Amino acid sequence: MLSVHTSPLDPPGTGDAGGLNVYVVETARRLAARGTEVEIFTRATDGSLPETVRMGPGILVHHVPAGPFEGLGKDDLPGQLCAFAAGVMRTAAGRPEQWYDVVHSHYWLSGQVGWLAADRWNVPLVHTMHTMARVKNAQLAEGDSAEPPGREIGEAQVVEAASVLVANTDEEAGQLVRLYDADPDKVHVVPPGVDLGVFRPGDQSDARRAIGVPEDAELVLFVGRIQPLKAPDVLIRAAAELMRRDPTRRDKLMVGVLGGPSGSGLAHPESLQELAGELGLEDRVRFVPPVSRAELAQWYRAADLVTVPSYSESFGLVAVESLASGTPVVAAAVGGLPVAVGDGGILLDGHDPALWADAIAELLDDDERRQALADAGVRHAAGFGWDRTVDRLDEVYRQARVDHQHLGIDGAHHLLDQVPSMVSP
Ligand code: UDP
Repeated sequence: MLSVHTSPLDPPGTGDAGGLNVYVVETARRLAARGTEVEIFTRATDGSLPETVRMGPGILVHHVPAGPFEGLGKDDLPGQLCAFAAGVMRTAAGRPEQWYDVVHSHYWLSGQVGWLAADRWNVPLVHTMHTMARVKNAQLAEGDSAEPPGREIGEAQVVEAASVLVANTDEEAGQLVRLYDADPDKVHVVPPGVDLGVFRPGDQSDARRAIGVPEDAELVLFVGRIQPLKAPDVLIRAAAELMRRDPTRRDKLMVGVLGGPSGSGLAHPESLQELAGELGLEDRVRFVPPVSRAELAQWYRAADLVTVPSYSESFGLVAVESLASGTPVVAAAVGGLPVAVGDGGILLDGHDPALWADAIAELLDDDERRQALADAGVRHAAGFGWDRTVDRLDEVYRQARVDHQHLGIDGAHHLLDQVPSMVSP
């Protein structure tokens, strides 16, 4: 696996570590448990990191030096891809021939390196986009900057070069075909998952005691990296609107914002804190830096609702984690969120805080409806275990290898076909 811009060893929830990291870790663990050796290449961002780390049984993480350890953002990394690819080649040079069976690259930067690696090793390239510039640029949040044309071109090259494209949802598969001209035959839909062992329903009062939230509070959460695209400000504005409509809510409504900063713009934590202050909510919004997976599950269980107001989201792991923990979701009807949420919540068009306030109040004020959505959500999330994802990935890898071998033979036939014409008079 290639994960150039973010390491599977980084805890998710801040900077560039988010759903992609969770995806790589969860799939690698399960592939390894089934007997597939996994090696993950990521950029070295700290001089004290060992060259290779064993992440778990059957999983190695290689730290590839490419540019200075610190001070490079994701946008600087296109300039380091040659160095990264050279590092990958050097690591593999010590291996016997045909060491790797499949290259799976995550995000377009890794896809660029995977393109070369798969070609060099004569193996199939399986690629997952995670996010796409052309999709993001069509749904930009206020204060967010457009992705540069270089990324779009780089993504299109990877789409062309990959043997298989793994899409999270049918919607993403369609976008690959429509916006990137992908060959529909090589696009496979493999839904991502949730760790159903960690994110499971539990007693709300116990969870509240564990994290220090009063029993009688109304707790609404945002969970994710704090960036304009994810629009946590919509929840804060909606909370202010709810308190304006019903001042008695001021004493019980609490907003939790879980996650660290990522990128810049309107939704940076300081500006969110400022926004909460301007709206008179400083004592009603709790900012919580990324916590462990187990503690995060407690937050989900403690909450009455989780909101996902993103402008664009290729899937939205947070939504399924919340449902699996027994908490309904109010989400923007964008990208993969309708699939992730299913019948476990409400989907909204647009980001008008008044609209979000309506939906949040509707559910907070109706315990029965909330419980019905929670029950449906738990059932819905049960269909998204990571084991299922890995069943499908395993199939995709196997098929990609078979197709690649046939392609090799066909390629050879193609050459043989030319021989007579070369030798005949
Ligand atoms: N996350 C976390 N701690 C936080 C915030 C987020 O562990 O404080 C995790 C969250 O549980 C989820 C991932 O980061 O697994 C975010 O994935 P998602 O698909 O929702 O968004 P992405 O980061 O891929 O844009």
